[in-house]
Amino acid sequence: VSDAAIIPGFTGAAIDRADAIRNDRDRLVEARTALSARLLRLDGLDPEDDGTGNLVWGSLAEVPEGAELAFLGLVDNKPRWVALAPPGARVDARSRTVWRVLSTLAPDQMALYAAARSLVDWHARHRFCANCGAPTDIAKGGWQRDCSVCGAQHFPRTDPVVIMLAEQGDAVLVGRQPAWPSGNFSALAGFVEPGESIEEAVARELFEEAGVRATSVRYTASQPWPFPSSLMIACIATVEDRAITLDTTELEAAKWVTADDVRAALDGSPDASFTAPPPFAIANSLFRHWLAGL
Ligand SMILES: [Zn+2]
Repeated sequence: VSDAAIIPGFTGAAIDRADAIRNDRDRLVEARTALSARLLRLDGLDPEDDGTGNLVWGSLAEVPEGAELAFLGLVDNKPRWVALAPPGARVDARSRTVWRVLSTLAPDQMALYAAARSLVDWHARHRFCANCGAPTDIAKGGWQRDCSVCGAQHFPRTDPVVIMLAEQGDAVLVGRQPAWPSGNFSALAGFVEPGESIEEAVARELFEEAGVRATSVRYTASQPWPFPSSLMIACIATVEDRAITLDTTELEAAKWVTADDVRAALDGSPDASFTAPPPFAIANSLFRHWLAGL
């Protein structure tokens, strides 16, 4: 297992987020009117696919009537923008093509797409102040919304999610949700709750979903997951024993798998005991981290 294979998907965007420009109205105007400025072409929230493994960029003349823009940053010193949905338009997050296109995108392209998708989706769902209900205005090039009535400032959210392998001896615990394709198993996962550390959330989720007790938790890697805006925090937890008490409201099945089982699943072997998550999912990287650490 090479280190390159362990770099999580949706990370490594070759972009300068250029915070100094976001905060400067004149420089934002310059970045918007520059001849080198480019607009990310999206199909709803999905990336357009030109078959080259790259995102597709157009000119700012393509901005739809009434749409505002968010400044993604600079790529090769060229300003990159994405159009927000016009007020009143509903953003349809149900994707038609996203998984197919993602499987073709280069890692840095996927990472840039993740930032754009989460940002566009956040703006569409946060037009009104959560504090007083008044409409909010875009600020800081799209990285903030301000309420002119109560003065509240709102920032694009990122929701922490722990995703973990419970480890006991030479095996790890995997589970599956009923909605997944037959044979798919992955690491267990759940949202971090207010007042919890990452370690505490890992231990709670493992106990709630599978009835296993963590004795130690170690962090391995993290990944933005733009559906709509999670930060996946991947951990490995050592647990006391292998007895499983399944929470069937969360999981359809859970089982212990060995290193050989995991290797076969990652290789896509026909006699693998389960189907592993795709390479751009951090659960895939987490399996590789675990194998590399054995
Ligand atoms: Zn307000």
